[in-house]
Amino acid sequence: MAYDVIVIGGGIAGSALATVLANQGIEVLVLERERVFKDRVRGEAIHPWGVAEARALGLLPAMLTCGREVRYWTTSFGAPPGDRRDLILTTPHQAGALTFYHPTMQETLLQAAARAGASVQRGAAVIHVEPGHPATVQAEMDGQLETLRANLVVAADGRLARSRGWGGFIVQRKPHPLSIAGVLLEGVQAPEDSVHVLYYPPRARAAMLFPLGNQRFRTYVVYPTETTPVSLGGHRNLTHLLAVCQEIGVPPAWFDGARLGGPMATFDCAEAWVEHPHAPGLVLIGDAAMAPNPIWGCGLSSVLRDVRTLAGALLSQTNWRQAGHAYALAHEHDRRALLRAEDVLTRLLFEMHTGEEGLRLRVSPRQVIGPARRLDIVGMGPDAARVL
Ligand SMILES: Cc1cc2nc3c(=O)[nH]c(=O)nc-3n(C[C@H](O)[C@H](O)[C@H](O)COP(=O)(O)OP(=O)(O)OC[C@H]3O[C@@H](n4cnc5c(N)ncnc54)[C@H](O)[C@@H]3O)c2cc1C
Repeated sequence: MAYDVIVIGGGIAGSALATVLANQGIEVLVLERERVFKDRVRGEAIHPWGVAEARALGLLPAMLTCGREVRYWTTSFGAPPGDRRDLILTTPHQAGALTFYHPTMQETLLQAAARAGASVQRGAAVIHVEPGHPATVQAEMDGQLETLRANLVVAADGRLARSRGWGGFIVQRKPHPLSIAGVLLEGVQAPEDSVHVLYYPPRARAAMLFPLGNQRFRTYVVYPTETTPVSLGGHRNLTHLLAVCQEIGVPPAWFDGARLGGPMATFDCAEAWVEHPHAPGLVLIGDAAMAPNPIWGCGLSSVLRDVRTLAGALLSQTNWRQAGHAYALAHEHDRRALLRAEDVLTRLLFEMHTGEEGLRLRVSPRQVIGPARRLDIVGMGPDAARVL
């Protein structure tokens, strides 16, 4: 069978793009290998600049059916109270952060794609793509091997994307000495109208709590991989994770009666990307094109920026080779800007500094992400890098 576009992966990137293109009459097929989405410990908070992208794409009303806009973002160095920022009043797009349970958002957007007219095939695992015009996709569906063709294949198959190999892309990696451990906690007593981020620069650690509603918080700890004796992963390490949170400054009362609401998982904070995510008949979007350092929570906002950039290019011209190339150039521009800004923040807040330098840096992080917001990746994303 032949389609205008085949999208590999029904994550937030793939289903958002499919919805936008199908709404404009493009014939789209989405191939998603999972029949039921489960908790993979993935992003559940979209920054205000990403909310603005969702708004521009017309996706925000659907996303709000399973998400909530959180107005405040509280940053503290050690125990709260810290800087309680009103995101709606202080961001260029006057938006809060959008929080949600990731599997439900995937389901919601995949249903939106189907409603817009896209064909959606669940339980369909893509095993090979042959780039070209047309591009060919081989997928296993219900035990059968199917061969499909499309003018354009969009690979949105996530941070471990096999599509990068099929397209012959070179994957760049920037290793990182930090790790992040995350878990969904229920029964947390923290204020639910705010995201809570607590930094502890002397030990290069941070705790982050994202409210999902009904006292459920996606909770993360960031720590230097080498300096933590116990790997923060697996159910048995919950007590350890809570102890680390409290050492960073999370009030113990917040965790009175807290319990696990899902699996715990640990990730290294390495960045991985493809410099020009376009090959003949094949484009990468979302984490497949760039999986940023999860500490800064820009993955989903970047996903939505990719969708707007690629959809804009495809819908504004008939030459899809040029459209794919234009998308890849814009993607690289944004990627460099975002990673430049994230790199500065990472160095300021997570590299262990001593002596005079340490003293200077304990002050400057407040200037950069405190009320002065000199490097506002929460509000502005890649555009924040222009102050550097
Ligand atoms: C610990 C952690 C915390 C994070 N926190 C945040 C945060 O707070 N805010 C934020 O914005 N971002 C955050 N992120 C990043 C965010 O989760 C990702 O950027 C986002 O999920 C990427 O979406 P995607 O659709 O590109 O990929 P994915 O969500 O990985 O979706 C890929 C989809 O493709 C499917 N698939 C894969 N291979 C195939 C195949 N061969 N055939 C068919 N289907 C296939 C998968 O089943 C999946 O459904 C975090 C990431 C991590 C690891």
